Amino acid sequence: MTSMNDNVSTIKGIGPKKTELLKKMGITKISDLIYYFPRTYQDKRKITGIKDLTVGETCQIKGRVIFVASDKFNRTKKQNLRLLVEDSTGKVEIVFFNAQFLVKQIKRGDELLIYGKVTSSNGKTQFLHPEIEKIDGDTSELGIVPVYPITKGISQNEIRKLIRRILGEHIEFEDYIPKKIIEKNKLCPIDFAINNIHKPETVEHLKIAKYRLIFEELFIMQLGLLMMKRGEVKGVLFNGDTKEYTDKLPFELTDDQKKVLLEIKKDTSSGKSMNRLLQGDVGSGKTAVAEAALYLTVISGYQGAFMAPTDLLARQHYAGLKTMFDQFGINVGLLSGSMKAKEKREVLNKLKNGDINIIVGTNAIIQEKVDFNKLGLVITDEQHRFGVNQRLKLYEKGDNPHVLIMTATPIPRTLAIILYGDLDISIIKSLPKGRKKIITEKYSDKKRNYVYNKVLGEIKSGKQCYVVAPLIEESENISAKSATNIYEELQSKFINENVSIELIHGDIKQDKRDEIMAKFKSGEIHILVSTVVIEVGINVPNATVMVIENSERFGLAQMHQLRGRVGRGSLQSYCYLICNSESDVAQARAKIMTESTDGFYISEQDLKLRGPGEMFGVRQHGIPDMRLADLIRHTDILQKVRDEIKSEYNEVNDNLKARVISIFGEKININI
Ligand code: ADP
Ligand code: MG
Repeated sequence: MTSMNDNVSTIKGIGPKKTELLKKMGITKISDLIYYFPRTYQDKRKITGIKDLTVGETCQIKGRVIFVASDKFNRTKKQNLRLLVEDSTGKVEIVFFNAQFLVKQIKRGDELLIYGKVTSSNGKTQFLHPEIEKIDGDTSELGIVPVYPITKGISQNEIRKLIRRILGEHIEFEDYIPKKIIEKNKLCPIDFAINNIHKPETVEHLKIAKYRLIFEELFIMQLGLLMMKRGEVKGVLFNGDTKEYTDKLPFELTDDQKKVLLEIKKDTSSGKSMNRLLQGDVGSGKTAVAEAALYLTVISGYQGAFMAPTDLLARQHYAGLKTMFDQFGINVGLLSGSMKAKEKREVLNKLKNGDINIIVGTNAIIQEKVDFNKLGLVITDEQHRFGVNQRLKLYEKGDNPHVLIMTATPIPRTLAIILYGDLDISIIKSLPKGRKKIITEKYSDKKRNYVYNKVLGEIKSGKQCYVVAPLIEESENISAKSATNIYEELQSKFINENVSIELIHGDIKQDKRDEIMAKFKSGEIHILVSTVVIEVGINVPNATVMVIENSERFGLAQMHQLRGRVGRGSLQSYCYLICNSESDVAQARAKIMTESTDGFYISEQDLKLRGPGEMFGVRQHGIPDMRLADLIRHTDILQKVRDEIKSEYNEVNDNLKARVISIFGEKININI
């Protein structure tokens, strides 16, 4: 009896060298081998008679070698091979270039199975580099044949034979999915699924097998995410009214903002810890919600932490929060990377003894040794790459603080379910009243002057403009405008106009950057030329134009973020994409941008454009890659899995738990 947990090295014929190679492919145990699924299949059920071959089709023939010719090129040591193969209906030529390894293997009289696309050369039908297999004892691959992903050192045939051999033994399959769920969802038994994913008898069987294994994959995934969830962790209790705070706002909260605030109030007064994701498009007003939550925290007697992805943004938030909270006698502190050690120490002390109520800073707040007096809420802003592991870190800070994660990258629901499966999700869909749709247009490089004249027009009517370029300096290797280059171009173009232009990028010192930003905010600077350092969070409502240079070098999400820097007030705003590529993807992206300003729609289109292969770096989110499941195509299965695994799901046996850990890694926090 072979056990799933046995090492592959226990298989006869698998020595240390192969073991090492297999390990590189992620295969160490028998179970890994069994779960090493084919990338695709070849239909070799049919054998075509040679006289019936059709050029252009993929066919399989079975025949005997009646003639072998190999040219020898002594200089290059390359050898071509030509075979003539015959069956009862006719003869066909098989050609291999540079096939010295084959020359040694094929002899006249050999029986071969040949599979490949039929081509023609000088009017003669032939196979060029087909797959061939000698018919001997342990063949032969008639039927639907699996094609595995392979690495150098292991051939397709080798891995096929290896898996076939393993499946031929008596394996104790482990069924990770509980019986009840199998029955309810009419899933096939695991041995049927495994056998048919590797060697399907019929297409129908393959479908049934695949369905079951996709279900399993998503099941494990969901379970892993659930395990990361804090479960029923006791949380600190907030109570109080945010009315006093919202009354001080210069506007009324939108319905969506109110709804989210209610959700936060409900979570934080439930006695359990809040784990909430707030998704809201750029400019939808997440900050006001965050501020209200911080206000609630402080009046409940706790401290709040507000984290921004960059120092620049932390400072901006600090300034905003300080102005707001000073009115209530609430102390706001800043922890910044560029602070002097002494200043920092002072802030840390005040945090520890409770003099500071709200601390603003970068990730350093959770990474470094920062002690709080009574931490009640942690908020992270604009962290669309805030992975599972970082989230786990948040929970460990203080005494189970509530956690609110804000993101301006709207992602389709299905994806959110996976990437943020450990969180409850709130969404702000509508923008504040009075916002006008940002007019977005695409131009080629030749129309640059036209665009800049529009920019000038806006500036003359008192507005401001961003110009974003992909690079800081000109580069020899990349043909794209640099920020420096554009800055100089604009300087000379507007030399006779009364226009003040500044350049900002990551290489400019922090102090100088702050100074420039302050001047832009106050309206002293009209045009801010920059790299993507301003991508996130900057808030200057008087800026009405965003020019994106070499827009083909930006992804949809990034362009959408950039565009979100304008249209932040009631003024009509514009976004101009200067696109220098005719490539399909660049054009498609530009088209989506000009058509829509809805972040959710854009992210869905983004997913479609990217396709399932490179769909998303789930790894970057701390989630293992999936083999069969595709989150766009299999949403229906995902829904079924979610229906089975509710948050109170507790039927996890040891086998299942071990499986989840083996896929997610040891780091996973087991709460079940
Ligand atoms: P984001 O969700 O991108 O972080 P912000 O919180 O920075 O958005 O808000 C964008 C702008 O909208 C800010 O200038 C803010 O003052 C303003 N704002 C927020 N909520 C409202 C509202 N309900 N009505 C009008 N303006 C609002
Ligand atoms: Mg924001």
